[in-house]
Amino acid sequence: MKTAEESPRFDPEAVHAKYLEERDKRLIEGRAAIRDLTGDSLFTKYREDPFTPFEHRDAISDEVEVAIIGAGMSGVIAGAHLRKVGVERIRVIDQAGGVGGTWYWNRYPGAMCDVQSYVYLPMLEDMEYIPTRRYAFGDEIRHHFEAIARKYDLIDDALFHTGVTSTEWDEDSARWIIHTDRGDVIRAHYVVMAVGILNLIKLPDIPGMELFKGKSFHSGRWDYEYTGGDMHGNLSNLADKVVGVIGTGASAVQLIPALAESSKRLFVFQRTPSAVGVRGNRPTPEDFTDDLGPGWHRERMVNFQASLDGLVVETDLIDDGWTHHLAKVWNPRMEPDMSMEEFILRAEEEDFAIMEEHRARIDETVSDPAIAEILKPYYRYLCKRPCFHDEYLPVFNRPNVTLIDCPAGIERVTENGLICNGQEFELDCIVYATGFEAEVTPFPRRAGHDIIGRGGVRMADKWEPGVATLHGMMTSGFPNMFIMPAPGQQAVITANITLINTVGAEHIAATVKLLEDRGVRIFDVNPDAEADYVEQIVGCYVDASSVMAACTPSRLNFEGDPGAMNPRSGAYGGGRGDFLGFCKLLAEWRDQGDFVGLELEIQQRESEDAVK
Ligand code: NDP
Repeated sequence: MKTAEESPRFDPEAVHAKYLEERDKRLIEGRAAIRDLTGDSLFTKYREDPFTPFEHRDAISDEVEVAIIGAGMSGVIAGAHLRKVGVERIRVIDQAGGVGGTWYWNRYPGAMCDVQSYVYLPMLEDMEYIPTRRYAFGDEIRHHFEAIARKYDLIDDALFHTGVTSTEWDEDSARWIIHTDRGDVIRAHYVVMAVGILNLIKLPDIPGMELFKGKSFHSGRWDYEYTGGDMHGNLSNLADKVVGVIGTGASAVQLIPALAESSKRLFVFQRTPSAVGVRGNRPTPEDFTDDLGPGWHRERMVNFQASLDGLVVETDLIDDGWTHHLAKVWNPRMEPDMSMEEFILRAEEEDFAIMEEHRARIDETVSDPAIAEILKPYYRYLCKRPCFHDEYLPVFNRPNVTLIDCPAGIERVTENGLICNGQEFELDCIVYATGFEAEVTPFPRRAGHDIIGRGGVRMADKWEPGVATLHGMMTSGFPNMFIMPAPGQQAVITANITLINTVGAEHIAATVKLLEDRGVRIFDVNPDAEADYVEQIVGCYVDASSVMAACTPSRLNFEGDPGAMNPRSGAYGGGRGDFLGFCKLLAEWRDQGDFVGLELEIQQRESEDAVK
């Protein structure tokens, strides 16, 4: 791979012109249209669980200390930390047939996490576990969540294959009443909303999708019965099949090598190329644990975060594309005597050099220059989520793989396949690697059910003008409720979702412990305190829409409409947020111990089931 120093001279005008030309090919009206998977009976099948058989059970009616809605990463970590502070009765509820959330659903071949396993897998010291590879495959991650859930006894009382239909506050009993699609009625003193950020699979709304007579599924619901094989490949049933994959994002980049290896013929329909950096996966060295003392895991996570935040770290323990490229783009160098114009130009130049490295990698790997050109990403590094893979680009040298350049997207699906650029491609199988609704999708939509607080107020209505929280995790009028921190929700943004989930889970558990120790029956956020926090978020909001408008459309710039970002969806500290400052804010709030910003109703509960 060419280094930044070897890349061609940066010519800002030419680069701007090229980037805008590529953007404009993709700024097509309706490009972000989503197929309604709930209202349209033909499409609900795309959400069904192919992994765990549905088992009938009787409806449950009972009361718990804490109900956790969502058994993905955030729900499992929250449950584990609540157990650690002594909460006994916990019910986790999830539509999936088991724990893991995104790692439950995303079992496509080659699924792995491109964030280093030693910081991505949570609770490694509690679990006394060291991941087997530098970047873990999906099954190892899922098994890790299962192990945490088993260790902290979250499985026996969990309600799987269960969708929550409403969560409603009952003032008299000071309980949340949760109804489910299995007829359950669960009463809970506290609710933790852990619904996830990539939980809504996205099918594009392409005309004719319902006509296709072959097999089709979303990458987040892989049909191994049809393809054969497993997460590690060998999709033997595809040996006589012509397969088309729509999408070349992070999921597609991981699954395309396996499809290419097993399919008779593979068509890759690419709307926008990804920037695919070096992966360098390898087994964990035997001496990995030699120098690790207590607290190593958190230190490593913080080291990663500090690198991303542009802070000086003694050793870059992660040392990969995230800390080499993302950190550089997130923190352009500002010299003391630089004007703002010079600073902006320098930032662009560094970005260009990084993108040139990616483009050069394609030239070095893909033998046909015309195909290499189609694969090149012409936009700034952070216009799209970066990817990292070493087997993806070589796929395009295979004789059975054809890359189809369709910047305006798929025109139509037919009985036999797809139409793109006016040409029909006949296919046996279509894989929609078309992603998920954006992380910043408002929480009430991600929750997928009515959340009704004090006075019958719906969360969706309360948040209609924008997010309103204290610390991104509590909201006034919805007492005894915690919401796991998420992007666009007044907390902070990080490339390592595990860290923010861990911080959120620890905060929730510690707060529950404090509330219980004080004998609090009800806590609610003081509306003035909430307004102050919202004002703080809005006050430091950094409007990056002019930069993002020059980007190729993606979910990071609201599909080409960056002005659509509501400043109330900003982060603590502005921009992507001040991570360490946010952690300090929470810690100091807890240490103060007097629940600043909350209104409390104290009444020692008589129940023996209170948190010990
Ligand atoms: P993405 O949203 O990143 O990609 C969807 C792909 O589908 C894009 O290439 C998109 O094109 C294409 N697409 C969508 N609609 C159409 C259409 N109508 N016609 C043609 N093409 C279309 O989804 P992914 O599932 O790949 O990734 C989602 C997120 O999941 C990632 O951003 C990441 O956060 C997470 N992830 C993380 C991984 C990890 O290793 N940590 C691995 C995989 C996923 P276009 O680019 O033009 O919009």
